[in-house]
Amino acid sequence: MDEIWTKDLLKPQFPALQGDVNTDVLIIGGGMAGILCALRLQQAGVECLLVEGKSIGMGITKGTTAVLSAQRDKRYAQWLSPLGKQNTKRYLNANLRAVEEFAELSRQYPCDFSRADAYLYSLHDKKAMEQEVKALRAFGFDASFCDTLPIALPIAGAVRYPNMGQMHPLKLLYQLAQRLPVFEHTFVQQLDGTTAVTQRGKIHAKRVIVATHFPFLNRHGMYFLKQYQARSYVIAYENAPEIGCTLDSDTADGFYLRNYGKYLIVGGGEHRTGKKSRGFAPVEAFAKQYFPKATPVARWANQDCMSLDGLPYVGAYSPNLPNVYVATGFGGWGMTGSMVAARVLTDLLCGRNNPLASILDPARTMAIGQLLANLGQTLVNFLTPTTPRCPHLGCALKWNHHEHSWDCPCHGSRFTAEGKLLNNPATKDAK
Ligand SMILES: Cc1cc2nc3c(=O)[nH]c(=O)nc-3n(C[C@H](O)[C@H](O)[C@H](O)COP(=O)(O)OP(=O)(O)OC[C@H]3O[C@@H](n4cnc5c(N)ncnc54)[C@H](O)[C@@H]3O)c2cc1C
Repeated sequence: MDEIWTKDLLKPQFPALQGDVNTDVLIIGGGMAGILCALRLQQAGVECLLVEGKSIGMGITKGTTAVLSAQRDKRYAQWLSPLGKQNTKRYLNANLRAVEEFAELSRQYPCDFSRADAYLYSLHDKKAMEQEVKALRAFGFDASFCDTLPIALPIAGAVRYPNMGQMHPLKLLYQLAQRLPVFEHTFVQQLDGTTAVTQRGKIHAKRVIVATHFPFLNRHGMYFLKQYQARSYVIAYENAPEIGCTLDSDTADGFYLRNYGKYLIVGGGEHRTGKKSRGFAPVEAFAKQYFPKATPVARWANQDCMSLDGLPYVGAYSPNLPNVYVATGFGGWGMTGSMVAARVLTDLLCGRNNPLASILDPARTMAIGQLLANLGQTLVNFLTPTTPRCPHLGCALKWNHHEHSWDCPCHGSRFTAEGKLLNNPATKDAK
């Protein structure tokens, strides 16, 4: 059983790079973030080229649930104090605009886009839901508080985001990739300034965007300190109800749901990658309780980069690395997040002012408590004297008996039982 998005879908093929080339902008990574950056740059008349180490869309993007929403858990109320009202509103509006941009793209590139209200629900915290509604309404967005959901979950309250969306992620991605200059099976081993070194040639670029999910240059930007990865489990069911909306819990141990065609997709069981988990069991138990007639037909696990303040890192990779940019830390919202990132980076590279640039700047100040908590998790595993070790920064790997893989609790790299690399930021196999 695998992700439903790859089922019955013919994947377009792209050549591997052979020899040296020049370009204005090189984009590294052919997931949603990289492809949308390339699209927006091309539309802005900027010469660009995208390289993908494996196959387009076969990274984290193939395991998304592709809900298109401006919802950001219960963050808008929480961001009011550190960001201020104007900046929080700007970020909300950018995410709302991103939903509309997907709607627009879907008219040209059919990808089963449909409108759906998105609900953020809480089992216990009615007040947090009310506060989120209050913050959203103060920005002029028509969110509303609900006591019940379209399914019979015993909630304390929910926030309804009207008129959001959902789609088939790979149908869109593959069509977009076909209008872009793309090389697959072209893994960037290192960057010398803005020249990328690959197995079969060099790419001499003036500017570079790193869209590799977890940024792969360790010595710059401290991404190993300011983000981690969280893993989550998804099951697609048949013989399950049409819920007519998308649902998402306000807590990591809650569940998220959407329909696609004949499927009801249910996800949950989130935890920091490499930490103990119950795998698919929480999702199975939830579905059994609420949809007893449903039949599981596909299942997959996937992970995303979590920034420490809930905002993605989009902008200059590091103050010490001129002309290199990054888009990462989407925190489970990398569809609309990638669309926002593509807009911000295109503006930055075209010399246009974008007020979101300072909000999403990867060099922004992080709360010291959050940094220390993340560092603490890393240090514990770094100092654990067991083997095998992660080739990324040397942390002790943990055996994931649900998926039969070695997972790193520090930064989320994963390896097969034999040590073959599955997920970055590591760039080579484990011994
Ligand atoms: C279970 C789950 C459900 C989710 N559901 C939603 C949702 O409903 N809505 C939403 O908005 N978001 C969702 N997300 C988040 C979203 O899927 C991700 O944030 C997004 O897909 C990340 O895209 P990306 O382009 O950054 O990464 P990727 O898709 O991983 O793309 C990065 C690419 O870079 C390539 N690469 C890496 N290193 C190199 C290198 N050195 N050289 C060349 N290429 C390289 C990789 O092979 C990969 O293809 C979900 C996440 C999870 C885990």
